[in-house]
Amino acid sequence: KNLKLERTFVPYNMLQQIILYGTSILVIVEGLYFYLNGTMALSICLLMTVASFMLFSQLQSAGNTSALLRLLDVSIDKVNEIDKTPVMDEHGKPVKPENYNIVFDDVSFSYGEHQVLDHVSLTIPERTVTAIVGPSGAGKSTLCNLIARFWDVDGGKITIGGVDVRDYTLDSLLTNISEVFQKVYLFADTIENNIKFGNPAAPHEEVVKAAQKACCHEFIMSLPDGYGTVIGEGGATLSGGEKQRISIARAILKDAPIIILDEATSSVDPENENLLMGAIAELTKNKTVIMIAHRLKTVRNADQIFVLSGGHIVQTGKHEDLIRQPGIYADFIGIRKKAIGWKLK
Ligand code: ADP
Repeated sequence: KNLKLERTFVPYNMLQQIILYGTSILVIVEGLYFYLNGTMALSICLLMTVASFMLFSQLQSAGNTSALLRLLDVSIDKVNEIDKTPVMDEHGKPVKPENYNIVFDDVSFSYGEHQVLDHVSLTIPERTVTAIVGPSGAGKSTLCNLIARFWDVDGGKITIGGVDVRDYTLDSLLTNISEVFQKVYLFADTIENNIKFGNPAAPHEEVVKAAQKACCHEFIMSLPDGYGTVIGEGGATLSGGEKQRISIARAILKDAPIIILDEATSSVDPENENLLMGAIAELTKNKTVIMIAHRLKTVRNADQIFVLSGGHIVQTGKHEDLIRQPGIYADFIGIRKKAIGWKLK
C-alpha cells in the first residue's frame, strides 16, 4: 500500500524539485549575466544567489511536508472508515445450541446487484453428510460462508439448533464451526502453533494425536525440528497436500460439531490423495458435514445432495435417486465420468 502511495507522490515530488532547481539555476545565471553586464553590483548578485538557495530549501521541505500531510489524511480517512464499521456482535448472546441442525429458511443473498441465492430453503440434519454440487459460480461457497456469517443474508434466515445465526455472538457461533478451505492459510510460525490455532490451550500430546489422525505426523517428524519447524519464509516449505492435512489437523483439534469443507479440485498424487481422504474421514466422523463436493466418491457417499443452480436448489436427494432423474446431476455425472480425474466444478 505504502509503495503505491510513494509511486503516486514521487512524480509530483520530482517535478517540484526540477522546477525548484531550474529556478535557482536561472536566478544564478541571471545574477551572473547582470553582473557581467555591469547592471548589478557583485554584492547584490551574491546576496541574490544565497537568498535563492534559502528560499529553495524552504520550498523543498514545504513540498515534502505537503506530501506527508496528504499521506496522513488518507490514513486518517481509513481509520475513520474502520471505526465506522458496525460491530457484528451488537445484538448477539452467547448461545449453546441444543442440536446442530442447520436450516436455511427462504434465504436470499446478493453481492450488490448480483443475486446469488434466491429464496433458498433447505435442512441439514445434524450428524449427516451433505454434498453441495453445481456449476462453478452457482454460489456453493457463498451458501457455506453464510452459515459462518462471512456475510449476512438479505432475506430469510439461517438457524443452527433453531437459533438465528445473527442471534449468536460471533465467538459462540464460530466455536461450533470448522472450515477447511481449498486455499490453506498457514502462519509463518511453528507447525505446532499452526495446528494449535484451532485450540490454543491444547497440550502437545493432543496436537500429536490430531496430527496422527490427519495423516501428517510422519512427515512432520521427518522435518529437521519436528513440530517446532517453522513454516514459510526461511522455514520449511510444504507441498499443497501437506498444508491441507495440517489445516485438517487444526480442525480435528478444534473438534467443532459442524464441518464445512471445500473439497480440493487440484489433482494431487495418488499417495497424497489417499492420505487426504483418510484425514477427511477422521475429521468428519460423527459431525454435521457440509461439503462442496467435486469427487464422485464423495457425492456417492453423501447422506443427501443439493444441486445448486441459478440461485435455486434444483435437485435434492441421494446419489442413487438423482442419477435416475433427468437433470443437472445426471448430466454432470455423465460428463464427468468420461473425464479422467473428474471433478464437478
Ligand atoms: P461457487 O462456489 O459455486 O463457484 P461462489 O459462491 O464462489 O460460487 O460465487 C457465486 C457468484 O458470486 C459468482 O458469480 C461469483 O463471481 C460471485 N461472488 C463470489 N464472491 C464474491 C464477492 N466477494 N463479491 C462479489 N461477488 C462475488
